[in-house]
Amino acid sequence: MKKLSDIGTIKDILSRYGFNFSKGLGQNFLINPSVCPRMAELSGAGEGVGVIEIGPGIGVLTQELCRLADKVVAVEIDKRLIPVLEETLSDFGNVSVVNADVMELDLRALIDREFPGMRVVVCANLPYYITSPIIMKLLEDRLPVESITVMVQKEAAQRLCAEVGTRESGAVTAAVNFYSRPELLFGVSAGSFMPAPKIDSAVIRLNVYSEPPYKLDDSSKFFKVVRAAFAQRRKTVLNSISSSLGLEKQAVNELLLDSGVDPRSRAEKLTMDDFLRIAERIEL
Ligand code: SAM
Repeated sequence: MKKLSDIGTIKDILSRYGFNFSKGLGQNFLINPSVCPRMAELSGAGEGVGVIEIGPGIGVLTQELCRLADKVVAVEIDKRLIPVLEETLSDFGNVSVVNADVMELDLRALIDREFPGMRVVVCANLPYYITSPIIMKLLEDRLPVESITVMVQKEAAQRLCAEVGTRESGAVTAAVNFYSRPELLFGVSAGSFMPAPKIDSAVIRLNVYSEPPYKLDDSSKFFKVVRAAFAQRRKTVLNSISSSLGLEKQAVNELLLDSGVDPRSRAEKLTMDDFLRIAERIEL
């Protein structure tokens, strides 16, 4: 079997198929041979496990996942890569490739159909233009997945894995922490990709809670409050929440005091519990 992380092999495949990279689709393919085996191992792919991969490219990570997992379903938007994947994955009988936009796909139906009775994980080198929407879709759909191991840009990794209530945190930090325990696994240099992006990357794993530890009557309020608080992150939470949600300042002031939150704080100072207390009390 050809080593897909080898530059010569990649160039050969790309020229035989007349393939040119699409920047718009975030196509930076891995050429560092040590990354995919490590990532696949840390994703939990193994016996009795089904893996969803998003954006297989020419299949470099897919091959490693196929070696470890019982079954792999790889979702690739670019139809030009489908014949390439047929060739590069032809040695594996445990993989199917779906030509679709992951954002449009009913992943719950896919899991029920493809992985009955199996534990399921997600593993992907994500296209950077759409990192947060994909992660939030995977979490918000409350899919029965144990973990989500993804390569993202280094700054996105830092934000996703920051502690809520610290300067590095953002709306996505709080949202991701609602559903999972994020973990930074390892860094990957920009030179590990072809073409090389401008910034380094990192692999993170979101360990998804089977039962979210936070109980709320209406969890959508939590996400609205978090988004509103960070909408103008340099302003006080009082100003940001009231202007973003179109609420009376005085009412928001009382709400924050009642929730034990200093109205003059910035959003990045608020903890998960602060956001939860506000969400429990706010009327929207
Ligand atoms: N896994 C390969 C690797 O590591 O070399 C390719 C990773 S590349 C960063 C991202 C891949 O995601 C590309 O193959 C791209 O075509 C695909 N992609 C982009 N947007 C997508 C979407 N909305 N749904 C599914 N795949 C997508």
